Amino acid sequence: MPFYTYKPREPEKSCDYCRDGFDTIQGIREDALETCPECNNPVVRIIYAATELKDKSTKTMLSDDNLKKHGFKKLVNKGGGQYDEVV
Ligand SMILES: [Zn+2]
Repeated sequence: MPFYTYKPREPEKSCDYCRDGFDTIQGIREDALETCPECNNPVVRIIYAATELKDKSTKTMLSDDNLKKHGFKKLVNKGGGQYDEVV
């Protein structure tokens, strides 16, 4: 099962649990968490390369097409706390 790290979008409003990010194990088909399970503040998923991935393949795995295929969302920070979904 893949391992995901989440970080709060607004660390100043987050709880002790999510402030520095937290890890969770989810199936590849499970929806990404959108909020912290403890404080309900919005979180963003940080994509971690699985341990079996070689450096060589990481770039391909994280291409926009692949992210979309695997149901990831890619967010681009526009600044001012706004995020654009690009995938
Ligand atoms: Zn929290």
